[in-house]
Amino acid sequence: MEKILNVKDLNISFHTYAGEVKAVRGVSFDLHKGETLAVVGESGCGKTVTSKSLMRLLPTPPAEIKEGSAIEFGSTDILKLSERELRKIRGGEISMIFQDPMTSLNPTMKVGDQIMESLRIHRKLSKREAREEAIRMLRVVNIPNPEKRIDEYPHQFSGGMRQRAMIAIALSCNPKILIADEPTTALDVTIQAQIMELIKELQDEFGTAVILVTHDLGVVADVADRIQVMYAGKIVETGTREDIFYNPQHPYTWALLKSVPTLETENKAQLYSLQGTPPDLIKPPVGCAFAARCEYCMPVCREAEPEEINCSDTQGVSCWLKHSMAPKVENPITGGI
Ligand code: SF4
Repeated sequence: MEKILNVKDLNISFHTYAGEVKAVRGVSFDLHKGETLAVVGESGCGKTVTSKSLMRLLPTPPAEIKEGSAIEFGSTDILKLSERELRKIRGGEISMIFQDPMTSLNPTMKVGDQIMESLRIHRKLSKREAREEAIRMLRVVNIPNPEKRIDEYPHQFSGGMRQRAMIAIALSCNPKILIADEPTTALDVTIQAQIMELIKELQDEFGTAVILVTHDLGVVADVADRIQVMYAGKIVETGTREDIFYNPQHPYTWALLKSVPTLETENKAQLYSLQGTPPDLIKPPVGCAFAARCEYCMPVCREAEPEEINCSDTQGVSCWLKHSMAPKVENPITGGI
């Protein structure tokens, strides 16, 4: 599959009164045409900061993308573009949808005008063509009666319809990449399923690659081709959906999976709960950032950071347990050693 995005050694800090928060630390990954890459982890693990940086949406300052980082979109390094060049990519080539469409849609502008604005800027359509296309896009995202709805304001739409309208705006210019940051968190479960199904259908139709940022492994299990697990600003495990759900290797991935309810879970008290909190990223710990919460922690874990080890062609993990000298432990998900 054609590679369309290549993120190399991304390091992002936030300058705060308390000190420099190293929010993203040496993140590298790529994205292929038409695939869905899910980025999962707890709040504060760096997944949203990483995804926003792909469109240079972080306010600088307080954010700072460090020297040596690169975000290659085709042959273009997004980090080196001028604001003017960037505007052509934002919305046109790479689009984003957010958790709460009410904060992203302009409450004072009709929904149709917001879709048309994007079409006129990026696809240079006339007003009449843009209106026709906006109606078509509202129909594509299953908004009923789009000829009437196009002239309504966001507050006249339900939560699910607002999210659909956001998707219509995001996909109206046929972007190569759609970044969906917790796109269903604010919605109830039936609407969540419909929105994810819609994103998948549109992805198949338009061939768009999707970066799905979420803490919800249930959503990921349905739609992701590949998954990367982030903890304390780093990618700790990466693999296909099958690798991560059926053969996970990192103790943090094990903890995430153990805390997902299954059909056998009868009450919440049975669910696994990961104790402790992520480390302070003003002073990240020496060694493995997960050490303080890891039940498999060994002395070496507190002394040196584990390097990424390839478990297969598709799966990589950063954990000292994968070292040839490490003791063998039972994988709590597979039951294997
Ligand atoms: Fe746990 Fe050590 Fe692996 Fe970190 S490197 S996840 S502390 S076993």
